[in-house]
Amino acid sequence: MVILMDARSLHQKIREEVKMSVRKLEEEGVTAGFATIILNDDPIEHETQKKFVNFKGSDCRYCDIYFKCYDLSDIPMNNREEKAIELIKKLNVADEISGMIVQKPIPGLINESRVINCIDPSKDVDGLTSDNKKLLLSDYDFSKDLLPCTAVGIIELLDYYGVNAKGMDAVVVGRSELVGRPISIMLQDRDATVTCLHSKSKNKLKKIFTADLIVSAVGRPPELYEENNWRITGDMVKDGCVVIGVGGKFDQKTKKWYFDIDFDSVAEKASYITPNFNGIGLMTRARLLKNIVIATRMLVKKVKA
Ligand code: NAP
Repeated sequence: MVILMDARSLHQKIREEVKMSVRKLEEEGVTAGFATIILNDDPIEHETQKKFVNFKGSDCRYCDIYFKCYDLSDIPMNNREEKAIELIKKLNVADEISGMIVQKPIPGLINESRVINCIDPSKDVDGLTSDNKKLLLSDYDFSKDLLPCTAVGIIELLDYYGVNAKGMDAVVVGRSELVGRPISIMLQDRDATVTCLHSKSKNKLKKIFTADLIVSAVGRPPELYEENNWRITGDMVKDGCVVIGVGGKFDQKTKKWYFDIDFDSVAEKASYITPNFNGIGLMTRARLLKNIVIATRMLVKKVKA
């Protein structure tokens, strides 16, 4: 019988813990604050990003974290990058903001690395600046370091459900800096043997079929992409595997979400599986809250120094 790795109770537990931490920080005279910046003007991406921003806002309000969204998507493209950098520099020194993110995907015409690397690493709650990416190559600490939210969220959900990756053959589909790469490293650090697949990988099906643990972070469902699309179905996985679904895309036309994992057929064979809703999305939100607390603690240290 498959076990559903529902993240709702863990998300709520983390929100309560964060609320307590925020209260303690208030007693020390520091308010936790979070800013998010939207740069994408593609109507579908913009709509989706606004949805995610609303979720983040409601989590922040629940935990008494000051929240601000800056939507720069209507600034002409030839000036948007400079305006974003100007804003980030202001937020870097703003006392009321302890952490910030730029919503992904960032439009292709904007130099993503230039924008992200303007964020003060101690306020980079997505863990994407060059300084914070280096953490993954050293002895990182979940309780103190600003690490990418989704990857940590996956590890925390596996721990919560008592799934030990030690010795498992794990396949991660996707190699982005946001999800695929960090989760590949973290699973390897948990003694799994990890294969990371991407759009150019050969023999993907063979590798997926032998995997004990699968993480899929692609977001190119066959319903929306004619080429290079991706979905894992029940016939592609072995009995008893653990399946973590990360990727998904919202279709404005049908108003439906399409996911990397065909839940019903995969659940028939898996031992553990995340639901497409109330799964990794909630864990990402929960870790973002924890990262905001970590960043606020760093701010306290700076102020006291
Ligand atoms: P991304 O930067 O676009 O990366 C997608 C990855 O998928 C790339 O590495 C790409 O390979 C690979 N890929 C594309 N087509 C493929 C195929 N046919 N077979 C195998 N690999 C393929 O996206 P991301 O930021 O990592 O996000 C991935 C998905 O997860 C998206 O749907 C996103 O919305 C979702 N997401 C969800 C959460 C959550 O909280 N639930 C959080 C973050 C992201 P190449 O490197 O070769 O291009």
